[in-house]
Amino acid sequence: MTTKPLIVITGASSGFGAEIAKLFNQSGFPMLLLGRRIDKIEALPLDFKNVMIKKVDVTDLNLFKEAVQDAEKIYGPTDLLVNNAGVMLLGNLETQDPKEWETMLTTNVLGVLNGMTIVLETMKQNNRGTIINMSSIAGFKAFTNHAAYVASKFGVHGATETVRQEVAAHNVRVSLVAPGAAETELLSHTTDQQALSDYNSWKQTMGGITLDPIHVAQTVKFIYDMPQNVTIREIDISATKQE
Ligand code: NDP
Repeated sequence: MTTKPLIVITGASSGFGAEIAKLFNQSGFPMLLLGRRIDKIEALPLDFKNVMIKKVDVTDLNLFKEAVQDAEKIYGPTDLLVNNAGVMLLGNLETQDPKEWETMLTTNVLGVLNGMTIVLETMKQNNRGTIINMSSIAGFKAFTNHAAYVASKFGVHGATETVRQEVAAHNVRVSLVAPGAAETELLSHTTDQQALSDYNSWKQTMGGITLDPIHVAQTVKFIYDMPQNVTIREIDISATKQE
C-alpha cells in the first residue's frame, strides 16, 4: 500500500509525458497514465505496481473523467495533474488543411480545459492539489508556419493564468511549463515538407542542439515539489542557444 498521492499524466506514451512518468515512478508515486497508444505506455521502463493505464483521447471529456474516477477509487484524490498531451502540425495557414488546425485546437486547448475541470472540484474540497499545463515558448512568441499551434498555446497560457486566479484562494496551484524545441515525436506528424525543412533550418541556428525531455520532466517535478503554499506560476525552459 503506497502512502504517496495520485499523479495523473496525459500524453504519457512518448516524449515529455513518458519522461515525467519515469521520474515520478522512480519516486514511488501511484500514477494514472493516459494516451491513445497504450501499448507504448505499457512498454515504458516502469515499475507497474501502482500504475493504472487508460486509453483516453483528452478531447473526450467523459472518457477522461471516467479514467480519473477509476484511478481515484484505488489511489485517492488526484494530487497532481500534468496536462501534457499535445500535437503540433506545422503548415502555412493559407495552404494547411483546416482539419489540422482543429486537431491542434481541440487537443491542446480543449484537452487542457477538460483535464482542469475534471480535477478541480475535488482539489478545492481538499484544499490542496496541483495542475501543471504544458504550453510552449510558442505560447508567448510567434513562429512562422505555427499559426494554429501558436493560437493553441497562447490559449493554454491564458487559460492557465485565469484558472490559477480562480482557485488560488482554495490553496490549489495551477502552473505552466513552456519548453523550447526538443526531440520527441512531436514533429513526426507534420506532413508539410516545406514547413519541416524550414523548422530544421531554424534548428541549425542553435547548432542543432535542442532540449533533452528529461530536463522538462525535472522542471515539472521541481514545481510540484515546492510546498503547497508556493506556486511557481510559470517556467520557460529551452536549449541555451535557442533564440
Ligand atoms: P510527443 O508527440 O512525443 O508526445 C505527445 C503526446 O500527446 C503523446 O503521448 C500522445 O499520445 C499525446 N496525445 C496527442 N494527442 C492526444 C489526444 N488527442 N489524446 C490523448 N493524448 C494525445 O510530443 P512532446 O512530448 O514533445 O509533446 C508533449 C507536450 O509538449 C505537447 O503539449 C507539446 O505541444 C509540448 N511541447 C513540445 C515541444 C517540443 O519541441 N517537443 C516544445 C514545447 C512544447 P498518443 O498519440 O498515444 O495519444
